[in-house]
Amino acid sequence: MSTLATPRPQYRRSRYLPILRGGWFVHEIGHALSLVDLAGPLPSNQLWLTYVGQFSVMGEPEGLAPGYLGWERWQLGWLDDQQVACGTGTLQLTPIERAGGIKLAVTPTGPHTAVVVESRRAEAEDRAMPRSGVLVYSIDTARTSHEGPIRVQPVDDKDERHWQSLLSAGQSVRAGEVMVTVKTSDAQGDVVEVVRRQPAHTAQ
Ligand SMILES: [Zn+2]
Repeated sequence: MSTLATPRPQYRRSRYLPILRGGWFVHEIGHALSLVDLAGPLPSNQLWLTYVGQFSVMGEPEGLAPGYLGWERWQLGWLDDQQVACGTGTLQLTPIERAGGIKLAVTPTGPHTAVVVESRRAEAEDRAMPRSGVLVYSIDTARTSHEGPIRVQPVDDKDERHWQSLLSAGQSVRAGEVMVTVKTSDAQGDVVEVVRRQPAHTAQ
């Protein structure tokens, strides 16, 4: 019978291993399930917040909202297609931190681009968020890791962490040709209006 050498307890130094810190494990599992990096451009991996702030663990593994964006949850198959409303109009979104209801409003803007709207609440995995509200972001599936395939729509250029991008009732934001307005907001979720405006006339 052979004996195996007792492995040295390297894990005692685990507090220095990023994989065991914050949401890093969830981040790497996300990669294993096909998700790409949403952090800012390389080589500076410090620009975590450039594109999606802390709204996805695939952007900032140690952020205050360490889950996945609604679009990523749909990619993973965690949302049913019936929970994704496609097109324009007015509808009620239920927060992605809860089960059931419509989670995403998706307006296609091109062959591989779209504007996505979701409702976020400072509860469950997002309980550390400084506020709740409606998040609007653009996706471009032709982009990959660190190229900004998902970009939260900023409402204030000085708001590096994009927390101001969580919209309250009465607020609107424009993402290209798509205008999103939060009509009402209550304990059940948010009613949003999504309108597409034709791009400005271009010279022939
Ligand atoms: Zn990564």
